[in-house]
Amino acid sequence: MGIHMQILIAILLGIKRNWHIFFGLVAGIVVGVLFPSASYPMIHKVLNFIGQGFINIIQMVVIPLVISAIIIGVSNIGDNKQLAKFGKKMIFYYFIVTLVAVTIGAVLALIFKPGLGAQNFINPEVAQQLQGYVAGAIAEQKSNMTGMILNMIPSNLFSSLSNGQMIPIIIFILTFAIALAKVGEINRPVVSFFESIFAATMKVTDWIMFLAAPGIFALTASSVSSFGMQMFSEVWKYFFVICLGLAIQFFVVYPLLMKIFSKVPVGKLYTAITEAIMVAFGTASSSATLPLTITCCEKRGISNKICSFVLPLGATLNMDGTALVQTVAVIFLTQAYGIELTVGLVVQIAILAMIASSTSAGIPGAGLITIALVLNGIGLTPEQLVVGFSFLFAFERLADMLRSTVNVASDAVIAAIIADNENEINYDLLNNPDGYKEIV
Ligand code: ASP
Repeated sequence: MGIHMQILIAILLGIKRNWHIFFGLVAGIVVGVLFPSASYPMIHKVLNFIGQGFINIIQMVVIPLVISAIIIGVSNIGDNKQLAKFGKKMIFYYFIVTLVAVTIGAVLALIFKPGLGAQNFINPEVAQQLQGYVAGAIAEQKSNMTGMILNMIPSNLFSSLSNGQMIPIIIFILTFAIALAKVGEINRPVVSFFESIFAATMKVTDWIMFLAAPGIFALTASSVSSFGMQMFSEVWKYFFVICLGLAIQFFVVYPLLMKIFSKVPVGKLYTAITEAIMVAFGTASSSATLPLTITCCEKRGISNKICSFVLPLGATLNMDGTALVQTVAVIFLTQAYGIELTVGLVVQIAILAMIASSTSAGIPGAGLITIALVLNGIGLTPEQLVVGFSFLFAFERLADMLRSTVNVASDAVIAAIIADNENEINYDLLNNPDGYKEIV
């Protein structure tokens, strides 16, 4: 074997294994740029197949993981007072990060006006008609809130399980887990049953992570190769605003939050969750990343008590990155169609985005589906906005990868802050990356 080859193999074996995912990601970008899907449809199909297979494999452990983690988490916390305290804190931080996210989204979209670039493509008659619909809806203040709330109540757990509807599942499991905690010692067989399930799903996650590098490579390459380059020149500002907003959330808001509410060192926490961040970027799914988010946080110092309670709930309900993107997207559409943006309308969009994002499943593309809720709230339907939507689709996958990364980081940040407040964090471990256990 040539000396170059030997050196290469030595380097590959010597590097920390989480770098493999990073290389997968970079190689994916390069291959995606070199082989655009329009010219190489076959390569795109193969990459897409491998990538989807990887997502399906990690998704298979998500439901048993969420169920067992919440049951263990709640029964570990035990007494009602502590549970209520953790719950309140969690909701408080979710609310704060999401409120800040929609505010950043709205302010940036109003400053940079990304929708103006798309205006030339919109039929003025359609635009005028839509203006009328929006005015009507605001006058009526119509809302489909009641229907939405009814859908969250789990009338049949098994149908929610088979459809992967996480919110009803979580409501059921939380109720069940609190009841279990209340019945006392008699709960031991059931709790130990779920402890075994949790341990086994974590083991399966370990195995799956060996596929992370090729999986992330294929996913990244397939999404970069289908990137809508021709539309880029018209609406690059939309993408720019999203990137800027998400970057502010990640690099400014979370560090500030950690500084104000805890003594968690930002750099150390971000180092601890590097693998989860990369997998979130590659898979564009907070649910699929959840097993890894839990592993990273737990192996690096945050107690199981906090991880198993806060992270599964966060991966389902806390979608501040999605809320930010939805706010920018809807303001983009209103600007593209020349709909008058009053202060009231912007506030309404922001509030609806907060609600819509938290009802989004942690799967790829969910945020673009629940955006319908924001649009309906202001009197529009996605069908009326086809042309505007086609612009959003040009960037959808990349925007999804970015917002999912922020969604996952935010869950970990909130778990770390709560763990700090509750003395549930092992700082010796968190502050010493050399002591980290390898995850992949
Ligand atoms: N893909 C996002 C996530 O899993 C949800 C979304 O589509 O915004 O966090």
